[in-house]
Amino acid sequence: MSSHTIVLASRNRKKTKEVTEILAAVGFSVIPVTNFPDVPDVEEDGQTFAENAAKKASQVARQLKQWVIGEDSGLIVDALNGAPGIYSARYSGLGATDEKNNAKLLADLASIPDEKRGAGYLCSVALANPDGEIRIACEGTCRGRILHEANGEGGFGYDPYFLIPEYHLTFGQLTSVVKHRLSHRARAFAKFIPLLQGIWGEF
Ligand code: IMP
Repeated sequence: MSSHTIVLASRNRKKTKEVTEILAAVGFSVIPVTNFPDVPDVEEDGQTFAENAAKKASQVARQLKQWVIGEDSGLIVDALNGAPGIYSARYSGLGATDEKNNAKLLADLASIPDEKRGAGYLCSVALANPDGEIRIACEGTCRGRILHEANGEGGFGYDPYFLIPEYHLTFGQLTSVVKHRLSHRARAFAKFIPLLQGIWGEF
């Protein structure tokens, strides 16, 4: 492993951009799995974020015979008993989009007052070796509150509704520089990166 390039098993373009920026800051470049048209979609049938992240990493690593990062993340809303959770990307069902998912979230929270709209993002990251064995597994979380109206155009998914109370701004309003310091993804990768550097140093 001489080169600092690594495959990311995600088909989410905006998530891939965030991971690419986070890893570029420490000298790793990311190759998205979409660069390999023969690699099929991974079925996300795990019961936890960690299971799904590990499955994405292992399956793609075995297919490509390369080191692969798997990432699974989502929104956990207190008043919805943890929903949408691992179903965050497909919350509104078949043909889900960020817009439809946000509309369903707002409808589900319609009767919930501000002080009970607490939520958290969770990000699980896994690294698989070319045999598909998991060598690193880390998680990061970030707390916030779900607003009634969208604010900001940045980020993706539920970000325009996800208020970071300390900043009085949503992830849709905060810059990517700030999101890369505070977010669930940033926090998971802050644990992951030293371990990744340790493994790369072995070779
Ligand atoms: P995954 O690609 O299966 O892990 O699904 C991730 C889904 O969780 C996304 O489609 C979003 O709905 C949500 N999500 C995860 N991370 C973020 C984030 O940083 N901002 C907004 N939504 C996120």
